[in-house]
This record gives sequence, C-alpha cells and structure tokens, in this order.
Amino acid sequence: MRKTDASRIAELLRPASRILITAHRDPDGDSLGCQLAFHEYWTSQKKRTADIVNHGSLPRKYRFLDPKGLVRTRGQIKRRKHWDAVVVFECSSLDRIGSVQSLVPDAIPVVNIDHHPQNSMFGTVNVLDSTAAACGEMVYDLLNLWKARITPAIAQQLAVAIVTDTGRFHYHSTSPRTLELTAELMRQGADLTALTDQIYYSYTVNHFRLLQHVLGHAQISAGGTVCLLTLSAADRRQFGVPMRELEGLVDYTLSVRGVKVGALLKELGPHKTKVSLRSSDSFNVSEIAGLFGGGGHVNASGCTIDLPMEESVAALKKAIAQVRRASRVRHAR
Ligand code: AMP
Ligand code: MN
Repeated sequence: MRKTDASRIAELLRPASRILITAHRDPDGDSLGCQLAFHEYWTSQKKRTADIVNHGSLPRKYRFLDPKGLVRTRGQIKRRKHWDAVVVFECSSLDRIGSVQSLVPDAIPVVNIDHHPQNSMFGTVNVLDSTAAACGEMVYDLLNLWKARITPAIAQQLAVAIVTDTGRFHYHSTSPRTLELTAELMRQGADLTALTDQIYYSYTVNHFRLLQHVLGHAQISAGGTVCLLTLSAADRRQFGVPMRELEGLVDYTLSVRGVKVGALLKELGPHKTKVSLRSSDSFNVSEIAGLFGGGGHVNASGCTIDLPMEESVAALKKAIAQVRRASRVRHAR
C-alpha cells in the first residue's frame, strides 16, 4: 500500500465517528482478521465507534479471535445505526457483501480495500493490490502508515488473515514479503501455534465423520489431475455440521499427488450448487469460476451453479477441461 492510499483513506474517514465494517458473505479468516484488527484500532486507538456486520455467521474455528462477540450477522441488526462511513474488505464488487447491502445508504462514503485481481471500484476510495497474498497484508501496511500500535491482538488477527488466505503459505500468492510481514507479526505477539491449533486442529467428532464420508466419495478424474468432493444437503443434515464450518474442506483435494485442480461442490438447494475451486500451481481457477458468474484468485475461487448437484458435477468437469485446454494452447504459443 502506498502512502497516498493510506492518506486518502484517512482523509475520507477523518470526519467519521461511527463506522460500519463489513466484508464478503460467508466470512473467512482473511475478512474476519481484517475486520477485527481494524475495529480494534478504530475503537481502542482512535476512540471512535464501529460495528462489524456480515452476511453469514462466524465459523466456530474463528471464535477464539472474537472473545467479545463483536462480529454480528445481518440478521442480528434490527435497525440501521447512524453510520458515517463504511469500510469494506475483500470484495471484488459490492454485491459480495450480500444482505448487508440493505444497511448501506446511497450517499455514504465507502472505503474499498481488496486484493482480488478484478475489482469493480465501487468505493469512494478504492485501494487495491492483487500482489497482496491477503487483505491482512494491506491492513498491516495501512496501520503502519498511520503509525498505529500493532498490539498482540491486532498481530494475531492479521496473522490469521495471512495464514488462512495463503493456505498456510502454500498458494502462489505467498511472497517473501508475506513471510517477512508474518515474522514481524510474530515479534508483535502473533502466536502461530495457537492460531493453527484453533483453526486446523479443532474438528468436532461430527465434523471429522463428515470429512471421512466426503473423502470416501472423492472423484478423481482426468488421469489423476482433478479431484472433486461433493456434499449433499442430506449428508450435511445427517452429520449436523452447518455450512459455515466447511471452509477448508476443499483443500484436501490438493493433498493427492498429481492433482492440479480441486473442487468441493455443496448442494444448497434442488437447483443450486456452491462450488469452491483450488489449484496449487499457476493454473488459474478463477477462469473456471468466471464461466459460472463467480470469481476469485488464481489458486482459490468460487461460484454458484444453478443446477442440481449431479448436473453441476458434469458441468464443472466440462468447464475444467475447457479452461485447461485453452490454457495449454496459450502456453504452447
Ligand atoms: P471459496 O472457496 O468459496 O471460499 O472462495 C475462494 C475465493 O473465491 C475467495 O477469495 C472468494 O472471495 C472468491 N469467491 C467465492 N465465491 C465467489 C463468487 N460467487 N464471486 C466472486 N468471487 C467469489
Ligand atoms: Mn482474501
């Protein structure tokens, strides 16, 4: 982040007393880490007021990050507060905040901080950096440029953002700077062992059984290079694991030697299937998500297919083959 970006944000927020902090629907580690770090700074150091509101609730594995229960769902907000500005993290377009959009008045100043390669520039101020491995890197820069104190709590929140959004430093987006910055966060109090334990080693028995079931039905195709996992609504009910707890399940697809593209398909309804896509090399899965109106990053993307589960599996396999063919042709040139 450049100094001028930090100044533009500061300028826009200078008159603001109470702000709304939001991020994309179904909040993940990066969006929650950024929201909580920014909230901590705004309330404890700037001594102003802020509300964090998301479409979708906090997954259990992130509860340790929010001991005060600051993160609210849209459903918990009965009346609009008087917000002077809105800060949006991690959204390539404003519709990604889902139902929180109904809280955002037309004329309100909007700060848009994002690291997706494409962004609709919906903010009053837009600060975009697709080289950042996580939005958390951008928030770290912003707070430093503002000469904020990086407290141990802020360090832990931003470390969660970075660790989760890089797939534990696995994705191509991980740069030397990502590691330098994480080292800095450790010096300022981030505890990587504690956060890794909470996020990756805290399955409930039901969740573990669901994992066993889903992995037991993995479909490996295209000569062992594509791994698809599926989860029906009935399975989810049987194991009693809410949808929001399933972030991270898709990452198992890449743990098979030779697999280049992985996907998890979750049945949302009779004609609605949520797809999460992952790749481990430079193959760009956002091109696949884009074919279905979704998007994301090179190694992590998502979309929704308006088809029943089985038909979505077939459509997705076709789309993967199509995008891989096109990418091979491009590389051969
Ligand atoms: P997921 O696997 O669904 O957690 O998503 C991985 C990445 O893709 C995240 O960076 C999301 O912001 C992005 N993403 C997921 N779904 C969509 C969508 N429908 N439209 C645009 N980006 C998405
Ligand atoms: Mn992110």
